[in-house]
Amino acid sequence: MTILQEPAFAKVNLTLDVLGRRPDGYHDLKSVMQTVSIRDDVTLTLGTGEPWRLTCNWEDIPTGPENLAWRAAETFFRNARRDPGGLTIDILKRIPVQAGLAGGSADAAAVLRALNRYCDFPFSILALAELGSLVGSDVPFCVLGGTAMVEGRGERLRKLPDLPECFFVVCKPDFSVSTPELYEKLDRTAIAKRPDHRAMESALLAGDLAKVAENLWNVFDPVVTAEHLELNYIKSICNTYGSLGQQMTGSGSAVFAMMPSFEYAAVVCNMLKDNYPQVYIARSV
Ligand code: ATP
Repeated sequence: MTILQEPAFAKVNLTLDVLGRRPDGYHDLKSVMQTVSIRDDVTLTLGTGEPWRLTCNWEDIPTGPENLAWRAAETFFRNARRDPGGLTIDILKRIPVQAGLAGGSADAAAVLRALNRYCDFPFSILALAELGSLVGSDVPFCVLGGTAMVEGRGERLRKLPDLPECFFVVCKPDFSVSTPELYEKLDRTAIAKRPDHRAMESALLAGDLAKVAENLWNVFDPVVTAEHLELNYIKSICNTYGSLGQQMTGSGSAVFAMMPSFEYAAVVCNMLKDNYPQVYIARSV
């Protein structure tokens, strides 16, 4: 038997724009995504000689073929024309679920990276990201990681200059958001403000954290905040205690704040932790 271990890092959306509904029903997106250090750990055991199995320490996560990590393994072996001779996937989950942090996609990407390494790199990183797009729309970015512009359904990636080292506070409130319902609401809403991607790219090129924070914008944020005013409470705590900028990530419901130092992040974390058990300090990766 062979055991492979791989970290699976969460992402936040520094920008997120929804450009419109496509004829196939999906939406075209444009987003600057950033990997952060909140991580799951994925362990693969190959050659068990038994039917495939998946375990996860988090309740309510599917443990069969619906799990994105399982689907990633199937996709990999089908395309690499290999057979693991039995596989067990163990996921140690720390990334909050249904948060907009791409926890499932991160696990899938970790599986693809680990298997590609084990098989001596049959796929280039971009080919592996393309395989990821067969599993889920955030998977290609999670395969690449770092700081990137993501377009289309998530399959078009362009590497951007890395965000200078930065500490984030990430806070997941108790409620979750239905992504399909959110898209429907957005389709009925006139989007009043969209991210300025040129300004965001210039800020990244200049390595200017304050400017990056100034240009955070997610078109889903006002739609979700209008119905869940507690997001404003979380953001106001972050802002009061020194955040450079804060907003919801993806389709929510987690909020992240960019902090000027670990010490500031620790203060915000302390202020939030009594009301929000799922609050974390993370670094850009
Ligand atoms: P995104 O930011 O990509 O929209 P998310 O953070 O909102 O993702 P996830 O935490 O990835 O959402 O999970 C959403 C749902 O996906 C879960 O409720 C779960 O049923 C399903 N799922 C499938 N595989 C996984 C996995 N490995 N980890 C977490 N959820 C998974």
